Amino acid sequence: MSHPSTPTSTPAASRRPVVAIAGLGIESSTFSPARTQAPAFHPSRGQEVLDRYPFLAVGEELREAADWHGALVGKSLPGGTVTAAAWEELTGELLTRLAALPPLDGLWFDIHGAMTVEGVDDAEALLLERVRSVVGDDVTVSTSMDLHGNVSRALVHRSDLITCYRMAPHEDHMETKERAVRNLLAHLASGAPRPLKAWVPVPVLLAGEQTSTRIEPAKSVYGAVPEVEARQGVIDAAIWVGYAWADEPRNRAAVVVTGHDEQAVSEGAEKLARGFWEARHDFDFVAPTGTFDDILDEALAGERRPYYVSDTGDNPTAGGAGDVTWGLARLLDRPEFQKQKEDGPTVLYASVPGPEAVRHAAAAG
Ligand SMILES: [Zn+2]
Repeated sequence: MSHPSTPTSTPAASRRPVVAIAGLGIESSTFSPARTQAPAFHPSRGQEVLDRYPFLAVGEELREAADWHGALVGKSLPGGTVTAAAWEELTGELLTRLAALPPLDGLWFDIHGAMTVEGVDDAEALLLERVRSVVGDDVTVSTSMDLHGNVSRALVHRSDLITCYRMAPHEDHMETKERAVRNLLAHLASGAPRPLKAWVPVPVLLAGEQTSTRIEPAKSVYGAVPEVEARQGVIDAAIWVGYAWADEPRNRAAVVVTGHDEQAVSEGAEKLARGFWEARHDFDFVAPTGTFDDILDEALAGERRPYYVSDTGDNPTAGGAGDVTWGLARLLDRPEFQKQKEDGPTVLYASVPGPEAVRHAAAAG
């Protein structure tokens, strides 16, 4: 049971549950020398945390259904490994804020799941362990993630409910967060025992651009999720693609199904995991691929404009740190781009972050 004892004069059914929101999110590439500092997470605190979610606006059903407490939620654009100092600063404040809250019934753990921290393996599972050490093991935790996050056994074990996006590109990101909250509140209201969870790691690791759910095979693999979720005794079903740009033991695809019927939960998870595994050789990039030189030859030889080239391992919209200058250096080596010609090609290069570089560019006009 996840309910602590309720105030004497109030019937249990009418007392609003006390629920906190906390979490950190980033995709951090370990193949980049970049390091992510604490301000990159733009942390929200207290009321600011609630303001992040339209479904928790004043007057909304979910807002009124619980006594909400924002602890700290920080989300960064993709980048490099998070520094140990940033991790200690952010988690320290998050835990201090949680410790100052009244006793909780539930906690929504709003994370991404692909955070790498200097000296830490499985950062999100460690964060949740520390959160539990503050709020207690009886608090029901609902975790929501990006499908490009990594789901270790420890993270699943420490969560009571866990889910992720079902679409890539992530058109359902807010819907997923809302589902995590609805599942949490429904569970608290039910008084049911902790849900059962089936976790099936799938030993496949794919880049984001290989797994758009708009095309096959991901379309069908993910298409099976609602059917499993609809089964009697199942609360939620989720498939994670995982995150390719970090060299960590936990990185792989995974399936988790939660619910109260052991057979429905385990069979549902096995079905989704088998669907992913059987399709593993069919995943392909959403666009033609090649070496950088070959692609530039093709771009310069053709008439089609604009011609878009993506460095897949360093593309921030696909989890890269976005600060590797290898592509820029190769581009500048090409004679076509070495000096301004009236009729020559124009290239826009996006993006290499760096305040110093921005100052130089601004000064140069
Ligand atoms: Zn993603």
